[in-house]
Amino acid sequence: MASIFTRIVNGEIPSYKVAESELCYAFLDINPLAKGHTLVIPKKEVDYLFDVEDELYAELMLFAKRVGKAIEKVVPCERIGVTVIGLEVPHAHVHLIPINALNDMNFAKPKVQMSSDELKTLASAIAETFV
Ligand code: AMP
Repeated sequence: MASIFTRIVNGEIPSYKVAESELCYAFLDINPLAKGHTLVIPKKEVDYLFDVEDELYAELMLFAKRVGKAIEKVVPCERIGVTVIGLEVPHAHVHLIPINALNDMNFAKPKVQMSSDELKTLASAIAETFV
């Protein structure tokens, strides 16, 4: 069965899209650690990041860099934290998280509550600055 992220890429499930390239897709995490928390994925469904073929892996990381640059233009922060977990969704993804302190990367801390309208507005703002 297709992963939830493949279904997002295929438009079967809605997402707060931030950016897209031929091979990669970026969208806001619906349960964010911080405003602007974004997931970057290869459109091709591969469970484990380190099983992604080299060329696509490089493309994904360069795409994540461009997405991170767009996020930091919109969300005030010290820098964009990058992490990979993948214990919940078996489709390789990179978390990009605006951070100001070490604890901002702590996945055990309470998530930020954001309305659908807030997520939509934020995704559009990031999408507009993406180059
Ligand atoms: P992990 O696989 O442990 O890296 O966690 C998966 C991440 O995907 C979590 O941060 C979830 O909040 C996020 N997530 C799960 N489903 C969706 C969805 N439909 N749209 C956006 N983010 C999602």
